[in-house]
Amino acid sequence: MGAVSIAASPGERAAEAAAPLLSAAGLQKHFPVRRGLLQRQVGAVRAVDGLDFTVHRGETLSLVGESGCGKTTTGRLLTRLLEPSAGTVTFDGRDISHVSQRQMRPLRRDIQMIFQDPYSSLNPRHTVGTIVGAPFRIQRVEPTGGVRAAVQELLELVGLSPEHYNRYPHEFSGGQRQRIGIARTLALRPKLIVADEPVSALDVSIQAQVVNLLEDLQAELDLTYVIIAHDLSVVRHVSDRVAVMYLGKIVELGDAAAVYGRPMHPYTVALLSAVPVPDPRRRGRGRRVRLAGDVPSPLNPPPACRFHTRCWKAQDRCRTEEPPVRELAPGHRVACHFPENAGPADPPDR
Ligand code: SF4
Repeated sequence: MGAVSIAASPGERAAEAAAPLLSAAGLQKHFPVRRGLLQRQVGAVRAVDGLDFTVHRGETLSLVGESGCGKTTTGRLLTRLLEPSAGTVTFDGRDISHVSQRQMRPLRRDIQMIFQDPYSSLNPRHTVGTIVGAPFRIQRVEPTGGVRAAVQELLELVGLSPEHYNRYPHEFSGGQRQRIGIARTLALRPKLIVADEPVSALDVSIQAQVVNLLEDLQAELDLTYVIIAHDLSVVRHVSDRVAVMYLGKIVELGDAAAVYGRPMHPYTVALLSAVPVPDPRRRGRGRRVRLAGDVPSPLNPPPACRFHTRCWKAQDRCRTEEPPVRELAPGHRVACHFPENAGPADPPDR
């Protein structure tokens, strides 16, 4: 007798649609540092140090911060290219934190990653057809109409010509190569795409085109994105929500309109003040905050508020007491004792 399939009720379907597609809870990744002949562990690089967030179906969450803040490691944890040291990653209702690579294999159809460098992420000895068709072969999927037709359709979808099928990566510009990489990620119609700095290696004039392409594809294919970026301006128009990371932690998370329009964490304020303002009438209105120095080493992060060594608002309390994450406006979470732009209803944590 065949298996009995029980169709989900409308209520169950609604609950599934409302449940986040992806969530991270207490997510950590510490890389041990070993020294000496016996390779004793002498410390740990705390690349990701306790992240909590969710990503809803069809939304774009951007993870933003300077290099060394842990955003790339986070992307690799979400796609399970890395295994977390602690905490959980839940995808589509399933805890994938510690599943084996073999168990991950079928899930790779649903979770894809776009890499930063379109020059090194494409094998120069393979044709575009082989590169974009690779997911079909790896997952042993035979698309209707055959691989060639499916690949050519994907090339058209990302704005390339089906005629490019037999060409090699070196024949393309950076923007076109990134389109090839995007076509490859779309082959198996994933639910989630984690894009690690998808445009930062590209010429500024090309960046907007690739970002617009990602936006169009999201609407067309019902995709959910986590976009990793070091520059807030690049993701401004595609983000539904933004999480700002500093030294392995999320310091501010909220709707894009709130984070850009009313940033509360001093680090976000500083990052935004470095973004050029295109409208000449608005230029010079915001306060310019210069961030001194580099991000401290995640091997030995500053105690209490990790941003205190670079924060112009730092007080004694910031050096001794870690600021809790508080929701200072609906859906707008901030970890700071003395936030900026906190309204009278949301007084600073004094
Ligand atoms: Fe600056 Fe203090 Fe807020 Fe940290 S807690 S961001 S040091 S004001």
